[in-house]
Amino acid sequence: MIQYFCNDCNVPMETSECSICKKRTELSSTVYWCDKCNVPIYWDICLAVEKKGIMCLQI
Ligand SMILES: [Zn+2]
Ligand SMILES: [Zn+2]
Repeated sequence: MIQYFCNDCNVPMETSECSICKKRTELSSTVYWCDKCNVPIYWDICLAVEKKGIMCLQI
């Protein structure tokens, strides 16, 4: 389960520290799903297709 998210790298993390930039990650409260790209997204709009994602997880 994805619990953290690095706002700088825009990647989900499993730890409270980003393994890429070593900064603190934030707890992701809501995860959306883009059915066009078939990827989880962390905004309600997928930036790739500019389409609203489906809310799929709320912690
Ligand atoms: Zn990072
Ligand atoms: Zn998308």
